[in-house]
Amino acid sequence: MVIIMIYLDYNSTTPIDKDVLDTYIKTTNNFFANTQSLHKLGLEANYMYELSIKEIQKNLKSNHNLVFTSNATEANNLAILGYLKRFKKGRIITTISEHPSVYQVMKKLEEKFEVVYLELNEEGMINYDELEDAINKDTLLVSVMWVNNVIGTVNDINRIIGILKKYPKVRLHVDTVQGLCKVDPDFSFDDVDMFTFSSHKINGPKGIGGLFYNPTMIIDKLIYGSNSQYGLKPGTFDLSLVVSTAKAFKKFMPLTSVNITKVKEVFSYAYEKLSKIEGIKINTPIYNVSYYCLNFSILGFKGETVVRHLEKDEIYVSTASACSSKTSSLERTIYSLTKDEQRANSSIRISFSSDTLVSDIDKLIESLKRL
Ligand code: PLP
Repeated sequence: MVIIMIYLDYNSTTPIDKDVLDTYIKTTNNFFANTQSLHKLGLEANYMYELSIKEIQKNLKSNHNLVFTSNATEANNLAILGYLKRFKKGRIITTISEHPSVYQVMKKLEEKFEVVYLELNEEGMINYDELEDAINKDTLLVSVMWVNNVIGTVNDINRIIGILKKYPKVRLHVDTVQGLCKVDPDFSFDDVDMFTFSSHKINGPKGIGGLFYNPTMIIDKLIYGSNSQYGLKPGTFDLSLVVSTAKAFKKFMPLTSVNITKVKEVFSYAYEKLSKIEGIKINTPIYNVSYYCLNFSILGFKGETVVRHLEKDEIYVSTASACSSKTSSLERTIYSLTKDEQRANSSIRISFSSDTLVSDIDKLIESLKRL
């Protein structure tokens, strides 16, 4: 009997696309020189780097500066810490459900700044009036993710941009990691002062993320070295990661709407089937979601137990960190949403790609029922 693996953990990472990998290999073979070298080979490599930036900017319709980092974690750190480095005090507004690469930065910044964490309502959304009420004359930065990595809710970035137009001194940072190529943006990326992405979430290679920022902003460096990448990410980078990331954007951005239609069918099917199983509570709301992930709790079972059980059937899903500590992002988000500790401790996230089939969900359901 051939057992086919069912991967339902695409929010964690995606496999590299074959054309993207091909681009990676070709670039490695043909352009090995350092983009900073002055000779012909260096200039050719640098030309490929510049073309790649233009390709990504074109896909996102953005004229912001782009700095490549090792992943989105580094890009979020650079955005927030780099912008705030010159300030001695002030207020920052964020949400309780940010990814740890933002949340943990905020926790550290509490030593110096006043950080306001907005809670989620039962629809998994922040209250936009609360956001506006939190802005005062000392506010420096608002940091809100576009699409929530745990429950898939889509924040109304357009509305936040609208609110912040009244407060021109307040800068906006948006973590767009789980939104790109999954949600059609209804806002202009250039209206966001800083936004971050990760290539391995869009079938690109691992080891590369990026920060887009408005060229009028001053971001201070966190590490020191050459002038490469505006001096913000000094050092030699892997050109092949950059060129293959551009390839991933070029291939998958235009497929966003088509893929949403496919994934929505799987999402709705999974939602309906799971909600019929006794003891399962669905945490992902039905509205304002990306359709790429569905979070639910199996009451009485720790998330980790469910992951281990499914793994035996070659089904791969995600949960909070093994220790289920109070600080884990899944627990934070689900607790803020449900105010229910048991639900927060037993949450499972399944996440899809356009290749996920309804029959994959059937197999998941069968396995869960056995549990
Ligand atoms: N932001 C969000 C919303 C994420 O989902 C993730 C990864 O899961 C990250 C940031 C961090 O991305 P990376 O793995 O590239 O550091």
